[in-house]
Formats: sequence, C-alpha cells, structure tokens
Amino acid sequence: MTTSAYRLKLAAGDTLFRAGDPPTTAFLIEQGTLRVTARHDGGDVVLGDLGPGALLGEMAVLDDAPRTATAVALTDCVLTPVDSKQFAERLEVADPIVRALLFSQLARYRAALATLSGGAVPASIEDTTPSRGSAHAHDKIRLESQLREALELKTLDVLLQPIWNIESQRVAGYEALTRWRHPERGAVSPAEFIALAEETSLIVPVGEYVLDAVCAALRRFPDAPAPFIALNVSGRQLRDAGFVDLVLACARKHAVSASLIKLEITESLVLDYEQVNTLIARCHDAGIRVALDDFGTGYSNLGHLHRLAFDTLKLDQGFVRRLDEPRCLAVVRAIFGMARALGCDIVAEGVETQSELDKLTALDCDNAQGYLIGRPQSVDDALQAFAAQRPTGS
Ligand code: C2E
Ligand code: CA
Ligand code: CA
Repeated sequence: MTTSAYRLKLAAGDTLFRAGDPPTTAFLIEQGTLRVTARHDGGDVVLGDLGPGALLGEMAVLDDAPRTATAVALTDCVLTPVDSKQFAERLEVADPIVRALLFSQLARYRAALATLSGGAVPASIEDTTPSRGSAHAHDKIRLESQLREALELKTLDVLLQPIWNIESQRVAGYEALTRWRHPERGAVSPAEFIALAEETSLIVPVGEYVLDAVCAALRRFPDAPAPFIALNVSGRQLRDAGFVDLVLACARKHAVSASLIKLEITESLVLDYEQVNTLIARCHDAGIRVALDDFGTGYSNLGHLHRLAFDTLKLDQGFVRRLDEPRCLAVVRAIFGMARALGCDIVAEGVETQSELDKLTALDCDNAQGYLIGRPQSVDDALQAFAAQRPTGS
C-alpha cells in the first residue's frame, strides 16, 4: 500500500480498512475494484463490489463512528482520500432537510448492519440524528406540509395596507400583505413562510393564491377612482418567464384592468439587471407598473439604477425612522431628487408618526404607507374605509 495525503495505491488483496477501525478518511475510487464485507453468523457477507467513481468509507467520517465493514482491494486500485472536513463544511451549509434525510438514512443503514452482524445498535447511532439539527429540519418539513394544507383550505389571508397620496389626501392604492393563520402557532409572518415557500416550488402556488386574491379584491373596489394593489414578487416568480402572462390571465379571469396591478420587486432581488429589465418591459407593454421595494437596504448600485425603468421607488422604513438625523435627511433628499429625475413616484414605507409624515411632506414625498395611515387590514375593512374617505377634489 503506498500512501500520500492526496493519492493512495493498493495492490490486489490489500485491506483498506477493517470493521471496528476508527474513522479516518473517506475515499473516492479512481481505478480498480474493492470488495466491502460485513461479519454475519461467523462468516463474511459481501455488501458490494465498488469501482471507479464510487465513494467508500464515507459513513464513518459522516458520523464519526467506527468502521462497520471491511474493504479489501480485489484488483490494484488508486484512491483519492477525502478529508472529513470536506464533508463537514458542506453539510454545515446544506439544507437542514437534506441533512436530516442523510443522517436518518445513515442511522437506519447502521442499525441494519448492526442487526446483520448480530450486534447491538451502537448508542452513538441513536444519538447522531437529533444532534445534527434534525429537530429544526422536522419543524420545517411539518411547516411546509401545513402550508400546503393552508393553501388548500384557503387559510392564507391576503390583507391590504393603504398607501396614502399626500397631495390629494386620499388612499391611492394598497399593498397586499399575506398572513398565515397557523392552527397552533397563530399568525405566522410572511418573512418566515414566504422564505420557506421560496426554498421549494411551493412559492408558485402561494404566489398564484395571492395574485388571485388581489384580482378578486380589485373587482370589489369602485371603478372611479379605482385604487391600485401592489403585489410582492418573489425571486422565483421574477425568474419565471411566464409570470407576466399569469398576471394578465388572472386579471382577465376577474375582469379587472391589469393597470391596477403593481408589482413590487425588492432591491436585493435586482441583481440580474437583464432579467429585471425584461420583466419591466413586459409589464409596461401590458400596462402593469413596477415598484422598487425596500430602497436603500440592498445593494443600491446607483451606476445601474438608470437602466431600470421602475415607476415607483419605495423608501425603506429605516430612513423614515431617522429623518431627524441631518445626514440621513441629506441622503433621503438626494434619493428623492434622483427618483424624480428618473420619473419615479415615491412611497415612504413604515410611516408611524405625524412628525415623520410632516417631514416627508416637506420633502415633497408623493405617498406614505405605514401604521399612521393604516395597518394591513381585511379587504372588507379596506373597502369600507375607502368608500368613507372624502371624494376626490373636495
Ligand atoms: P415589505 O414588502 O417591506 O412589507 C412591508 C412590511 O412592513 C410589512 O410586514 C408591513 O406589515 C410592515 N409595516 C407596514 N407599516 C409599518 C409601520 O408603520 N411600522 C412597521 N414597523 N412596520 C410596518 P409584513 O406584512 O410582515 O411583511 C414582511 C415582508 O414579507 C414584506 O416586506 C414582503 O417582502 C413579504 N411579503 C408579504 N406578503 C407577501 C406575499 O404575498 N408574497 C411575497 N412574495 N412576499 C410577501
Ligand atoms: Ca413590499
Ligand atoms: Ca418594503
């Protein structure tokens, strides 16, 4: 057997490791064939013959348990050793559900091997799964199934938060904000379940659900003046070439004008300018307006901003909260100037106090959104308040 840290050569008949050996490294077979055997009833059972491209000995380094099988070279072999750190670092950043799957399979396989060789299941195997964050993974699996159920039972609520036009002193439109009434956990924040849905294709039906609720709500508002409803677009929807057609089809289904739908794209999603520009162009062709959300929190690359034809810029609430600070005020003034020069209207987000609203008014801000104006509310409540406001122009 000749060894280096990067390459290991075995002659036919050499033993790579034996059952009971401590775990050192795993191996990738480059050339040759090895036979893996386990003890059973006083004899050896062949678990498999492994050839080029196969990983070997990875179980032991994954859970740091002694080798449960013996590996012997059937022919001359060349192997690349794989350091356990190479696995550990990748497992650390892997999806917890994938990690939980891996360790539950590992534990099961070890238990089966232990039964085969007539021994007891080592305690370390039972310990492995919970210690690798599987409780978190199980929570996630459960939450995801419950979210699928919520879609079916329609227990996602799409609320509307008013966006107030400062000049006309009227509600110009709404932002649709989704809430999940969870049977045990109460209201689950969209920050949590949208991120969860984004990890899988579940965001597609969630997005369609919200879109449908928005179009249904628009149908119930008066025609003139009709408010717009802004919809948050997730990363996956943004990348979906058919997304704008989906919006148009939904508007058609509910017989509402697509021009009343606005799409909000978070600044941090605007990394692929080509993609976002294509989407904006398609929206504009269809009469749909597009807002740049959370402006000032992401990677505001001003050098590229002029290339993105947004209709609205939404100033993040972090700025609104600090309008007392002269430096913050200077930045906001510059952002507003830039937005105007680009032909965008402005929505200041998270306006909670009259003083914040007064400062924004002095800065010629077009629209305000926040608890001062109104909390996210049911469509029924929004309809009632919309009808009760003073008529246009009075
Ligand atoms: P966002 O788009 O920035 O939405 C504004 C968030 O600020 C909302 O939180 C809203 O309830 C909250 N907010 C509004 N006014 C005030 C205020 O005066 N003070 C404070 N402190 N907060 C205020 P929410 O509803 O928890 O939504 C969080 C995020 O989840 C949203 O951030 C949005 O990015 C995302 N989201 C919500 N609904 C959907 C949805 O249907 N689809 C997608 N893709 N994302 C959604
Ligand atoms: Ca938003
Ligand atoms: Ca926002």
